Amino acid sequence: MTVISRLPEPVHQEWDWQLRAACRGADERLFFHPSGERGRAHDEREAAAKRICAQCPVRSRCLAHSLAVREPYGVWGGLGEDERSAILGPVTRRGR
Ligand code: SF4
Repeated sequence: MTVISRLPEPVHQEWDWQLRAACRGADERLFFHPSGERGRAHDEREAAAKRICAQCPVRSRCLAHSLAVREPYGVWGGLGEDERSAILGPVTRRGR
C-alpha cells in the first residue's frame, strides 16, 4: 500500500515563486552579460537588471535560490556575480 504522506512535495511548489518574478518576459540579456562585456556597458546593463529586481516581489526567494545553488552567472535577487561571490567565496564558473 502506498503511503502518500511520505511522498516528496510536488516539484512545482519548489519553483512556482518564479511565476511572480518581475523579470518574467524581460529581455534575459539584461540579466546575463555577453562574452567580453566590460566597463560602462557592463555597469549600465547590470544596473538596469537591478532596477527590475528592486521591484520584484520574490527578490529574497530568488537570491536565496541563487546562493543555494551557487549560481555563477547573471543578476539574481538584485545581486551580480561579484556580489554573490563576495558572500560565497569564489564561485566556479561552468566551462572555465
Ligand atoms: S529578483 Fe530579479 S532576477 Fe530574481 S526573480 Fe526577481 S526580477 Fe528576476
